Amino acid sequence: MVLNYDYHTHPQGHSIRPYSIAALQPWIDQCKARNVTSIAFTDHDRYHAGVDFEVVEHLREINPDIEILVGIELDNDPVTSGEGARWVEKHWDKLDFVLGSVHYFPGEQVMFDRADQALQTIVRGVEKAYEQYFTELENVIARGHIDCLSHLDLIKIHGYRPEMYNGAAFFRPILDLVKQRGLAIEASTAGWRKTVGEQYPDFSIISEATTAAIPITTASDAHSHAQLAENFNRLAQILQEIGVKKIARYRRHQLVD
Ligand SMILES: [Zn+2]
Ligand SMILES: [Zn+2]
Repeated sequence: MVLNYDYHTHPQGHSIRPYSIAALQPWIDQCKARNVTSIAFTDHDRYHAGVDFEVVEHLREINPDIEILVGIELDNDPVTSGEGARWVEKHWDKLDFVLGSVHYFPGEQVMFDRADQALQTIVRGVEKAYEQYFTELENVIARGHIDCLSHLDLIKIHGYRPEMYNGAAFFRPILDLVKQRGLAIEASTAGWRKTVGEQYPDFSIISEATTAAIPITTASDAHSHAQLAENFNRLAQILQEIGVKKIARYRRHQLVD
């Protein structure tokens, strides 16, 4: 199995850096170098002001051999995500692909997945942290206007898991919701860059999703074009072992065959 789609990328990184051909072309050049034939730009919704649909249209014209999707990663930021959700709703027809993510515990202003934020999990107690993460995921799904859940078990990022934890059993109710709503989940290599040292989500969860015929996308969560399609060979081996037959491809929120 060869992976040719990267559906989670952050051309703007961690600030508003308005789209331009100069900023985006290196990502497309990297696609060509790494045999990525379909890419989705999914900047954080708090930086939506930098997303420019006309620039992406021009980028498509000058790179007809690469499929370029315009998307967004809509999360549960207590300050910005309300406005982000309204922006997604307003531009839904121009967007191809929207990721839904949980980066915040309730009542927190700082993303729990930052390298210096392991304490947020520890002070709650691991079981409680997982419960709160689960509820936030339910809320993100209920809010709607998404196509796919990113890094489903991101809560493990700092390496903490409840006692007797089984990923598939824990996330089964979420997978049921994903199935009911016709959403996809992503298989992401980003966890290999973190303390947990494992792809998102874990083997058992991807297996469970595959059994349920939930579409699976592939993603690097690259915050620089250098990270595009990072560790895709390693991820391909895991997906093959699980028995994933096909990687989901999207356009205008529809699965493409
Ligand atoms: Zn994320
Ligand atoms: Zn991301």
